[in-house]
Amino acid sequence: MFNKVLIANRGEIALRVLRACKELGIATVAVHSTADNAAMHVRLADESVCIGPPPARDSYLNIPQILAACEISGADAVHPGYGFLSENARFADILEAHNIAFIGPTAEHIRVMGDKIEAKRTAKALGIPVVPGSAGAVTDDAEAMRVAQDIGFPVLVKASAGGGGRGMKVAHTAADLSLALSTARAEAGAAFGDDAVYLEKYLSKPRHIEVQVFGDGKGKAVHLGERDCSLQRRHQKVWEEARSPALDDAQRRRIGEICADAMAQMKYRGAGTIEFLYENGEFYFIEMNTRLQVEHPVTEAITGLDLVHEQIRVAAGLGLSVTQDEVKFNGHAIECRINAEDPRTFAPSPGQISYYHAPGGLGVRVDSGVYQGYTIPPFYDSLIGKLIVHGRTRNECLMRLRRALDEIIVDGVKTTLPLFQDLIDTPDIQAGNYDIHWLEQYLAAAA
Ligand code: ADP
Repeated sequence: MFNKVLIANRGEIALRVLRACKELGIATVAVHSTADNAAMHVRLADESVCIGPPPARDSYLNIPQILAACEISGADAVHPGYGFLSENARFADILEAHNIAFIGPTAEHIRVMGDKIEAKRTAKALGIPVVPGSAGAVTDDAEAMRVAQDIGFPVLVKASAGGGGRGMKVAHTAADLSLALSTARAEAGAAFGDDAVYLEKYLSKPRHIEVQVFGDGKGKAVHLGERDCSLQRRHQKVWEEARSPALDDAQRRRIGEICADAMAQMKYRGAGTIEFLYENGEFYFIEMNTRLQVEHPVTEAITGLDLVHEQIRVAAGLGLSVTQDEVKFNGHAIECRINAEDPRTFAPSPGQISYYHAPGGLGVRVDSGVYQGYTIPPFYDSLIGKLIVHGRTRNECLMRLRRALDEIIVDGVKTTLPLFQDLIDTPDIQAGNYDIHWLEQYLAAAA
């Protein structure tokens, strides 16, 4: 097992990783920018190292500084959390070259899954169902037209290097295709320095369903069921639940087994998420995330497993603590992402939290780095916490969520909590009846 883990992140996820390390008896090193001197993960870590000024590129994305912090502290492993350097293959390579373990997959797997065309090709070869589309990048407009007519309009033009929904354009008819291609190429070139694009069938009312997988890096892999993350705004997840209200046990088992089998074939190491769009009973792979996800606690709630413990075990070469047969699903869980944002306009609302009270009781979990008197800096994302509730049934879970939302108090800044209070009283949400467009339509209607 590792002696000392450096946590290359901030906010709630830094605290989440720190908790797992403490439980395993591993010493922790926090790194932080000057904007995060008073952050909870810094206060609770055994050691802390300041790695630079507030902008992320100078601190949380600054590989030489993080490496220096490893050397100074003698850390033998790094947990990257999510975001920042968590899917940076070069970072994983550099750590390995310095004999520091990267708590995540191999650099090669990060690279393959980071390129959407390559990821889709790999997924397909491993037996994962993918969205019908071009075999690879489309460089020629006439060829794009042939592919589009073959799969049928509407089609989606997507950037190979894409992320955050950028470089994506829908062509509803043949007349729209050439403009969609040129705008997607231009956006992708400007945003990612790579203008390769490919075509996919555009699914009109899908749900977003993702499968949590874990591999030991030696050919054993398990799946931990799915999460339904269809409630999104601008491609950002807002509410996640497990299990999906749209799947039955047979569908769940089938897609889970396909994913676990693919990861075993790949000899994947660590935690991963295989994201699908789901429409008319079919799954369509869209991407794989080679890291821990924000929404991992809903999976922890229904499996009773600590995903960060598993990540650390696997990185240390100890293998997974469970076999597939030992993974049991229990009840239902929902996570609400609490952002420091205006609940209507979603404008960021940094500033000081003047009063804070966390909800508690059976089946309620809050993962957050904030405390009363804490000042949310304006430099990073606006996620300040996650409220996760667990119940025996989805209905019990909804009741508990309503109760927890009544209890939580965050004063001094605007938060998205009122949005959840509204959502929970909405018949479609109560019935689990929503697709990836539902939330934006609901918000547009409420405006
Ligand atoms: P990114 O990495 O940019 O987030 P994804 O491939 O994960 O890109 O897609 C982001 C979102 O775009 C999906 O969650 C979904 O809402 C939408 N999307 C992607 N592919 C399709 C498709 N073929 N049909 C319809 N919507 C899609």
